[in-house]
Formats: sequence, structure tokens, C-alpha cells
Amino acid sequence: MTDQYRRTIDYMRLSVTDRCNLRCRYCMPNGIAQVSHADILTYEEFLQVAATAVELGITKFKVTGGEPLARLGCVDFISCLKALPGVEQVTLTTNGVLLSPFVSCLAEAGIDGVNVSLDAPDRETFADITGFDALPQVLRSLDALLSAGIHTKLNCVLLPGSEERLTSLARFARRGLDVRFIEIMPIGAGVGSHGPSREEALTVLRREWPDLRPTDIRRGNGPAHYYICASLPGHIGMIDAVSHKFCGECNRVRLTSTGFLKPCLCYGEGTNLRAVLRERPEELSEVLRAAIYKKPQAHCFDRTASVTEQKAMSQIGG
Ligand code: SAM
Ligand code: SF4
Repeated sequence: MTDQYRRTIDYMRLSVTDRCNLRCRYCMPNGIAQVSHADILTYEEFLQVAATAVELGITKFKVTGGEPLARLGCVDFISCLKALPGVEQVTLTTNGVLLSPFVSCLAEAGIDGVNVSLDAPDRETFADITGFDALPQVLRSLDALLSAGIHTKLNCVLLPGSEERLTSLARFARRGLDVRFIEIMPIGAGVGSHGPSREEALTVLRREWPDLRPTDIRRGNGPAHYYICASLPGHIGMIDAVSHKFCGECNRVRLTSTGFLKPCLCYGEGTNLRAVLRERPEELSEVLRAAIYKKPQAHCFDRTASVTEQKAMSQIGG
């Protein structure tokens, strides 16, 4: 469907839990208030929303969290979502710690891609950023994904002081992965943090790969701008939503684990679909349509005083 600004909305992010097994310092270093299980949508409810969204033209779904694999049954849910009539694409975003035992099931389910978040290439920095010494598990998961032939992307946040590890992270592209560098957003513990810009990151990377150059190639649903060079089979992506606004091309809405539909990342405003699902399910389609139609024109991350979202990224799903 199209929203009030004639943008095609065909992509929904489903955050299946607000809980996480890591404590990334830019996301939720001190954890979050626990939400009771009754307030979290069941997988059946997520599927009900997805089936309704498909009727409105939303055919691509991202399963995210918190850490989605920290919720029991997540892989079965992904299989069911993938099997829903009309669903064209299902991908997963994960920190990768719990992933490796599930890779073959995800491949069987026909998952269309997995994004693994990784902000540090060495064990000590990984533990410093995430609060846990879990890099070996993430690397095992990456190996498993590549062996299974699952399309894999690495997401690395451009954290303050991260310049020295950008090249090591980009080297993962030697294995055919796309490595995407994401500008830190003023959400959760990211408020007030500023890492290297796209240009600064490219300057660092071009010391190793002087022929790194932009390409028009689009890969996936995201707003990444990609760069290629002769010696890297994978692509290097830059996602800088704050400094390079791409709201005119935005194609997505987000559903939190408590069933709150967020039309824009930057605003706390949205629609309580859980109440609709549980009290007047016959209105779900109309309420969803109206909520998507009203999607705001643009974010206001450049005017932080206007940002009304108070939740951490782990409660939203990224
Ligand atoms: N736990 C999973 C993971 O880390 O991939 C999925 C959820 S996490 C909220 C989704 C993405 O949001 C991760 O790639 C994470 O690095 C990113 N993220 C979290 N807080 C952020 C912030 N303030 N700015 C930019 N990206 C952020
Ligand atoms: Fe957890 Fe992902 Fe947030 Fe890190 S970024 S704390 S892994 S939800």
C-alpha cells in the first residue's frame, strides 16, 4: 500500500522480544524494565498481523528483537512466517551468539537472509562493547551461515573511537559477506554519541582498499549505499540515516514485541495493535491501514529535542 506521501510500504520489522543476552553499550547497557509475558504478542498474534499486512501489500518481513533467538520457538515462527501465503521474503537480524545450532533449520525454512551484528573483530573489544565474552560463538555462527549458503550481511555500528577496527571488520567482505557500517542513532543509549561519519570511515577503508568506489547496486530492502573494490568479493555498505536522510524512500513500519505499530523510528507515537488483536480483531485490517497511511514524512534526528521516542533500540527492533 502507499502512505499519505505516496511511498510504497512493503516491509515490516517484527520485534519478537525486547529481551537480549547482550548489553551493548550503545543500546541497553543496563538492561530494560521487564515486560510481563502477557503483554508480549504470541507468535500466533504476530502471524495474524503478518497475514493482514500481506493483504495490504506488505510482503517482506524482518524478524528482530531484542535478541530474537533468545525467545523460545523463534525458528519455528520464522518457518511459519515464511510459509504464509503471499510472504515473499523473511530475513533475521541477530547478534549471532545463539545462532549456530539453528542455521540448518533456518536454511530448511528457506530464510532469505541473516544480518549479524558485530561491532568488534577481537574478543576483548567485543566483550567491552557487549558486556559478554561471546565473539567465538558469533564467529562460529558466521561460518555456519556461509557453509549453509545463506545470504549473510554483517552490521557494524560506527561507534566513537571505532576507526581502528573498521578495516578488520571490512575484511569479512573477503568471505563474500556484505559488511555494512551503520551511523549511530540518537535512540536508547545511543543518544549523544557520535562516531565516524561515512566520509571518515571511507577514508580509513581506502588506506587498505584505495579503489573502493560507490556503486548504484541495491541489495535488500535497506537504505544502504554500497561500495565495491576489485579485491573484496563482498560489498561495503554505509547506512547513515541521520546525516543522509532517506525518508523519501522509506518503505517500512515496525511492530514491537508488545504489539505497538511504529510508523517511524524517531517518534514514540504509534498504534496499539495488541488491543485491537485482543478486543476487536475484525478491525485489524482497517486500523493497520490507517496507521500506515499516517506515516510521518520524515524523521527529526537532526533536531534531537523533537525526537519523541523514549524506548531503547532493543525494545523497537532496530
Ligand atoms: N539483537 C539483535 C542484533 O543486535 O542484531 C537485533 C536487535 S538490534 C536492536 C538491531 C540493530 O540495531 C543492531 O544491528 C544494533 O547494532 C542496532 N542498534 C542498536 N542501537 C543502535 C543505535 N543507537 N544506533 C544505531 N544502531 C543501533
Ligand atoms: Fe542486544 Fe542487539 Fe541491543 Fe546489542 S544491539 S543489546 S545485541 S538488542
